[in-house]
Amino acid sequence: MSADTLMISALQHYAFCPRQFALIHVEQAWADNRFTAEGNILHERVDSGVAEQRRGTRYERGVMLKSERFRLTGKMDLLEIEQSEPVKYFPVEYKRGKPKVDDWDRMQVCAQALCIEEMRDTEVTEAAIWYWEVRRRETVAIDTALRTTTVAAIEAAHAILTTGNTPPPTDKVKRCRACSLLDLCEPDTFRQDHSAHYVRQLFEGEK
Ligand code: SF4
Repeated sequence: MSADTLMISALQHYAFCPRQFALIHVEQAWADNRFTAEGNILHERVDSGVAEQRRGTRYERGVMLKSERFRLTGKMDLLEIEQSEPVKYFPVEYKRGKPKVDDWDRMQVCAQALCIEEMRDTEVTEAAIWYWEVRRRETVAIDTALRTTTVAAIEAAHAILTTGNTPPPTDKVKRCRACSLLDLCEPDTFRQDHSAHYVRQLFEGEK
């Protein structure tokens, strides 16, 4: 990923932990765990589908996305196009897990919606996430609050790509247990290291 362009799929890494985002997309560190491996298999199945038309809706799979305004690129699992007047666009993302309290997944479909709006000169008001583990489709309102959260994350992720600075470990220690980069990151070592405070000051620009 160039410093100028952010992959939409990377946004969930930033939302989960800014350090994880930097380790993967700045330091090029990556490690699969069971969760990421299952997610890859699911997306391979989804991406292999072809476009189809059912009644008044067209289903396009593996749609390439781009936004010059937000410097985003990516690929969406499914775009439902309701052939009404005006035409309605409805992004759908497939996830291996279950619905989350946090906005990680919702930010991803919001970023997809921002791209669709720019590419097709339209307004996207709703999207959906289909969760494989619970076999459930969750509707997501692309409202002002979600747009604000998503744009803030996009800007913060771009700032990391531009500076190349890797943030300190997240304060949300429980997330580390589910993180595929736990061994590479060594968050406990970093937290115990007194120099970490100094680095944090540098990163956050504190005095
Ligand atoms: S181990 Fe914890 S601090 Fe390190 S990248 Fe993963 S979530 Fe972030």
